[in-house]
Amino acid sequence: MRPTAVVTGAASGIGRELVAALQHDAWVAGLDRDPVDDDSPAAVHFRVDVTDRNAVGDVIDKIADERGGIDWVICAAGIIRDRVSWKMEGDEWDDVIQVNLTGAFNVVRASLAMLRRSRAGRVVFIGSINGTRGGFGQANYAASKAGLVGLARSLALELARDGVTVNVVTPGFIETPMTRSIPREALQRAIARTPLGRMGLPEDVAAAVRFLCSEESGFVTGVVLPVDGGQLLGATP
Ligand code: NAP
Repeated sequence: MRPTAVVTGAASGIGRELVAALQHDAWVAGLDRDPVDDDSPAAVHFRVDVTDRNAVGDVIDKIADERGGIDWVICAAGIIRDRVSWKMEGDEWDDVIQVNLTGAFNVVRASLAMLRRSRAGRVVFIGSINGTRGGFGQANYAASKAGLVGLARSLALELARDGVTVNVVTPGFIETPMTRSIPREALQRAIARTPLGRMGLPEDVAAAVRFLCSEESGFVTGVVLPVDGGQLLGATP
């Protein structure tokens, strides 16, 4: 039987592309608070808010019951609420931490018993290069994404004895609905600072995640893999 994968944020952008890529290797359940369009590649889609711990538990149990287990968990659900820290409201901080960090923990926590029983358990978080370098006006977002790294490395240690690998993919600027609201000049500045000279595509991120879910990546755990066109290296001279 093919592995059973759970992908959050599956209705849009990177998450949607993850579903499309992983369904070549696995049976994929997509989770999102939004509905999906009719041509979604997911085998099944659940509307659920990842911050709702009980609802997440119910959905994960339903998938595990139907499939007899869960093998891969990929957390891509995420939001931004950008504002410089001296103007940031408490709920802008709380919402971003709740969705990006606590939401990922909720989904993995609910799946742990199944992952530990799997013979090829895989967890991949979608972080951000801004979790590594910080982001102006993104104290909440950068903290949430840095938190995913600590979470992943702790889980990697705890789950290694069960053969479960846990890794983080950290994209740079990727063309999705999330980046559509960024002003053109800001995007052009970002591209100018990217050695490979373009924005990334959801497919670029999906290819890295597909590798980290594959059998061939079985000795790779606790890593943070930037998919950023070299942006973290800085501009080319
Ligand atoms: P996107 O197109 O906005 O997709 C994110 C999806 O997650 C949306 O469908 C969103 O629904 C859903 N979501 C948000 N909160 C949720 C919740 N509480 N429960 C369930 N689903 C929820 O964004 P994207 O660009 O594909 O981003 C995907 C991931 O990549 C995010 O974690 C993001 O931080 C990360 N990332 C993106 C970039 C980039 O340049 N695009 C760069 C680095 C990292 P709504 O539309 O209703 O919010």
